[in-house]
Parts: sequence; C-alpha cells; structure tokens
Amino acid sequence: MRLLVAILGVAAFVGIATLASATRWGSIALPGSPTPTPRVWEWPPAAPTEPPMHAHPRLLSGFIVPIGGIDVPSEEQYLPNSPREYRAGYHEGIDMPAKAGTPVLAAKTGTITRIDSAFVDWTIDEEQAAFDEVQALGFTPAATLDRIRGRQVWIDHGGGIVTRYAHLSAVAPLRVGDVVAQGQVIAAVGNSGYPEGGPHLHFEIRVGEDFYGDGLPFPELRYAISAAFR
Ligand SMILES: [Zn+2]
Repeated sequence: MRLLVAILGVAAFVGIATLASATRWGSIALPGSPTPTPRVWEWPPAAPTEPPMHAHPRLLSGFIVPIGGIDVPSEEQYLPNSPREYRAGYHEGIDMPAKAGTPVLAAKTGTITRIDSAFVDWTIDEEQAAFDEVQALGFTPAATLDRIRGRQVWIDHGGGIVTRYAHLSAVAPLRVGDVVAQGQVIAAVGNSGYPEGGPHLHFEIRVGEDFYGDGLPFPELRYAISAAFR
C-alpha cells in the first residue's frame, strides 16, 4: 500500500505540475478541439428501475454530454458504482477523458450554485495526509472527497437535480446565481484535485442527497445513464 501511495503521490505531483503550467480562463476561449473518445454504445436491454427515474422522468432526461464530440462512456470503470480502491470507496459520477483545456458545457439549463473561481489545490503533504487517513478509516470523509474532485462547478436544475463538474483547470467568469443555458461553456477540463488516470471531466448527476445510479446493477445502470442523455 505504501508503494501504491508513493506512486499515487508521484502521479499527483505530475498532475499538479501540469496544472501549474496549464490553462487559465483565457485559453478556454480558443477554439476547442475536443478529443473524441470513440466508444460503441450498445443499448442495454434492461428496463429502468431507478426509483428517481419514475419520480422525475422529465428531470432525469434531456442532458447533453458536457464535452462536445464525444459519446457517453459505456465502460464500467468510468461509470457510477465502480470501485475506487485508492480512496476505499465507489465512483459517484461519469468520467469523460479529454485533453486539459477542453471546454466543459452545461449539461442542461440551470442555476450556478457553486463555482470555484478562487480555487487553490492541495499540497502534496495535504494530499498524502488525506489518503493516509482514508486508508486508516476505510472510507473517504466528505471533505476529502470534495478535495479529490478539485475545482468544481455545480448547477441546480430544480426538483433536487444538480449536476457537478469536477477536476476542472479553470472556470468561466460566472457567479453563483447566474443562469446558464444548456451547452454554454462553464469551465475547462483539467487535473485539479485527484484525477486518477489523467485529465478528464468527472460529471455527476445528483438526485437529492444521492448520486444518480447509486447501487444499480450494471445493465440497469447503463440503461439509466443512457436514458439521462436522451
Ligand atoms: Zn470520476
């Protein structure tokens, strides 16, 4: 485990070093060339059983993929409920690999409830201490999970539905309370927090206190995720 933590530490250092030299908001304005991640989406046969889908069928559909030119990942490791051993927990969102600086779009019209305009990433020592604590506790404390997600934007879509965009390298010049339109550029993909596996957008759909897809068996999860983007 110590070796693993050491490797994670080096990876995080590289990530932070990249961030330090990476984008500010100005670079987002450049024409973005999203990195296509070719994926084959097979429509799963299972019927949706996610309770919130029955309760809020309209609220939990109609999202757009928040990065242009890519499809929703279908691999289990990128989706909710996938184990995250480095923090003794489970994934709560959808990971979308993309180059740092790729524009991030609002998945649906809503109101900004969090935008980390003055974000300061954790130091190597802070990160090390946090992961040591995680391993000692056997779970990830909420504050640590928030640090892992790095620089974030949250958008409230009403009815208890919130989308979260994490590991961002920069955020748009917006403020809490601003209404953003579906497809509007709100941020840029980055490495902030602890983006296991390199730059990517971590995208979550929150339903009340829970994350969308929590506990669903994989075939049903894929159905539920695909339904959200229709
Ligand atoms: Zn993620």
